[in-house]
Order: sequence, then C-alpha cells, then structure tokens
Amino acid sequence: MDLIGIYQQDNPLSPIARIKMNMSTTTELSPEVLAKYQPVIGLEVHVQLLTETKAFCNCVNRYGGEPNTHVCPTCLGLPGALPVLNRHAVELAVLASKAIHCEIRETSIFSRKNYFYPDSPKGYQISQFDRPIAENGWIEIPAAGAVPDATGATKRIGITRLHLEEDAGKSLHDGFADSVSRTYIDLNRCGTPLVEIVSEPDLSTPDEAFEYLTRLKEILLYTGVSDCNMEEGSLRCDANVSMMLKGAVKFGTKAEVKNVNSFRYIRAALEYEIERQIEVLEGGGRVVQESRLWNNAEGRTYSMRSKEQAHDYRYFPEPDLPPLVVGEAWQREILTALPELPETRRKRMIEEYEIGQQDAMTLTSTRGFADRFETAAKEAKSPKRVVSLITSELTGRLKAANLELEQSPVTLKGIVQAADLAESGDLSSKMLKQLLDTCFAESKDFAEVYERDKPKQISDAGAIEAMIDEVIAANPKQVAQYRGGKKTVAAFFVGNAMRLSKGQANPVLLNELVTRKLDALGSAE
Ligand SMILES: [Zn+2]
Repeated sequence: MDLIGIYQQDNPLSPIARIKMNMSTTTELSPEVLAKYQPVIGLEVHVQLLTETKAFCNCVNRYGGEPNTHVCPTCLGLPGALPVLNRHAVELAVLASKAIHCEIRETSIFSRKNYFYPDSPKGYQISQFDRPIAENGWIEIPAAGAVPDATGATKRIGITRLHLEEDAGKSLHDGFADSVSRTYIDLNRCGTPLVEIVSEPDLSTPDEAFEYLTRLKEILLYTGVSDCNMEEGSLRCDANVSMMLKGAVKFGTKAEVKNVNSFRYIRAALEYEIERQIEVLEGGGRVVQESRLWNNAEGRTYSMRSKEQAHDYRYFPEPDLPPLVVGEAWQREILTALPELPETRRKRMIEEYEIGQQDAMTLTSTRGFADRFETAAKEAKSPKRVVSLITSELTGRLKAANLELEQSPVTLKGIVQAADLAESGDLSSKMLKQLLDTCFAESKDFAEVYERDKPKQISDAGAIEAMIDEVIAANPKQVAQYRGGKKTVAAFFVGNAMRLSKGQANPVLLNELVTRKLDALGSAE
C-alpha cells in the first residue's frame, strides 16, 4: 500500500521513486549502516521584522486583515511605482546581525531575484545577493550530547550571511465552503520586511538543528527584531541536508526541506530525510537536488520540484534603489539598542547568583522575565534566596499545574516577600511551602495568602525555652555528645523543639536559645 502511494507522489521518473519501489520501507536501517554516514545540515531562516510599515512603502506591516487591504501601488508592483527603503528595517537588520556576531558591510546592494509566481505580482523579489548587509557570524549551541549542566561545553555554528529582502503574498488554496478547487490571492504580506539568515553547513544532527533554531529564536526575541510567531509565519525555516560517508571531504548532493512551521517538525523532517537519503545511497542510487515538502500527518517528505540554481533567478542590481550605506556612526547609534544577549546573561547570572546552567536557563527564558527577576532580586534581602525559591519551589508547582512562568499565581513581588520572610527567620521553610501550596490551590498571590494565613509564630522566649528544656531532658545521650564537643548536635535539639512547637517557633530565636542553653550546661571536662 505504502509503495503505491510513494510511487504516485514522487516523480515516477526520479531515481528515488525507482529505488523506493524496490525497497521495503518497513525495514529499519541498522545502526551499522547509519554509523557509516555523516549528515551535513544547513538552515535558512526567514524572519519578519517588527516594523510599523512595510520594507519599501508606507503600508502597515501587520498580520491578517481583510485580504488585499494593506496594499498600495508600490507593494502591488504597479508600473511607475518606486520603492523607498524603510530605515527602521535596516536598523533591525543591523541589530540582528550584531547579535549573531556578523560583520556589517558598510555598503550593501539590493538585487532583483526574478521568478514568476502568482503571490509576487512584480515578477521579482527585492533581495540582496552578492553584497548582503552582513556576513561571517556565529552562534553557540550546547555541544552534541553534552548535558548543559555537566560542562557547559558548546559548539559554534557559523552564519554565512544575513540579508534584507521583502516577503511575497499568500496563495489560498483551500478551506472554501464549496469543494470546487480554486486559488485566491492575498497580497497583504507583499513587501513585508524580512531578514534571511543562512547558516554554514555546520550542523551534524537533527538535535543540533533544533538547538540552533531555539537559540536563534531566543536571540531574535531578546533583540526585539521580530515576534518570531511561527503560526503567523514570522519565522520560517528551510533545511538543507545531505549525507556523506564519514571521513569523506566532499559533501553529498543536498535536498532542501521547505517551509516547516515548527522546530519539532524540522527535527522530524531531518530525521526522515537522513534515513531516506541513506536508503537511496545504500540502494546504489543517487540523491537528487530538489526541494521537498514535509507532510506532518504522514511523517515524511515529498518531492516538490527540482531545486533552482542561483543563475535561474537572473539576479541583477535593483535599479530603483541606491546602494545601502550604513556608516560607522549609524552602526554605533543602532547598537545602543543591543541588550545583553541570553548566553552572556546566563554566564553572568551563573556567577552572580551562584546557580547552575539549568536554573539560569529557567530565569532567562524570556527577556521580560529575566528583567523582572533581576529588578526584583535587587530589592530582596538575599537575591540568592529569591533564585532558589523560584527554581526549587515555584517551577515545580508551575509544572504540576501545567503553567508557564509568566502565568504563575505568585508574582515575583510575592516571591521576594516570601524570600525576605524566610531570610529574616519569620517564616520556616515548612510554613513557606504550605503558604505557596495555598497560593496555587486558590490561584492567589503570596501577599494576600500570607496576610490571611500568616502563622502565629511563637516569639515568646519563655515558651520556647520550656520546649527546649523538655527536649534536653528527654535526650541525655545527645546532651552528652554536645558537652563532649560535638557542636553539630545542636541541630538535633532545634529540630525536635521545632516539632514540639508544631513548626511555629521563631527559628532565629530558637537557634539562639538552643545554643545558649546547651552551652550553659558546661563542657564535659
Ligand atoms: Zn504598499
């Protein structure tokens, strides 16, 4: 059944289809066969920039809207209309470039990329070709197989280039009430400013590709250049993948998987594509250079069309736009908006708050949260205690309640209050846990629950002393140990007296009184 489906969907003349015909698709590739090959993966990511208006006209740059209402003669490509470059789009492109360690080209050139497609009425796309605005960057991902906590080892993935271009419109093929096959066109997206970020083929596994995309998205969100909303197409990814025998120097022929709209699907598509290509090669065939589409429902890719070469696009310099010059002074001005980047921030926070890599990841998951955390932590008696409350008490409860950090019923202000009370000894850790449980059960912030359920703490020294006396009388063996010089036994008395008080004794006072009383018994000698 599968074989027929594959034969019909693939180009029947392609070697892949012929080989697939003769191979069982149910056989798993053995680990020995998989181990012979080295996948080579490069990613092309398209990112919509968060500007008010489009790249070359004054139309609003906004997702959705009635079809064909955010358009004008320029983005419709009407004869005689001239493009004018959006300054803010350039600034965001420079910001993104710097955040991924690219070199800025002072004078870059816009080019026409010619192709005919209904969603691009001009018949070309304004893009950058041989002189893009930025090149030679990199980002770091956790090294393959390394648990982030273990060594913090990273792998550097090269970025070939970042260039500015405009988006095309959208063809709508289905979802209409009747079942007649037809296509409509919505040009609202035409002319939306994009940057395309092209990686070096430095990625070796689907997991690395996933990590790269996660890190890249995080950086783009931190810099505020895009909302990276994948459902709305603000971030789109194409993956190039080829196989070569381990130890070989020449790359194999690559296939391109187009327009996958989630990082998990990219990983799945790459896993599929790696096995498909190995099967082809093991069967004595050759991989065809082509674009392929990922079908998530079926968990496989399909041949879409043979891949265009650069010369098919007949690039030439855009005659309607002058060279783009971003001089040093303008670059400096733009860079004042560059925030501390997530990786740097994590490294600093690990030092400053003495936390592990995993905790740092939690605290920096979004720039907004990291900012609010650091502001709050600065006001707390002990920033370290705030961190430990978030990572040990809060995240566990959030996970159990299936909530994101941003949806926590206990605000950062509440956490700081709780941390301060614990720090001053006004709240035992047991009581603190109970109060947080109540906050989550009732979906209320800490301040409100604390005011209502505030434990009646015993701070009366006489009452506490009576309890300590009781514990001392009942445990002569431990008393003897203490008098013999084993001072750590004090904790035993503190713990037992606290239990007697049902957790309500003021812990600072209790500690102090236990030590005083035990010391008053004198040493054994
Ligand atoms: Zn327009």
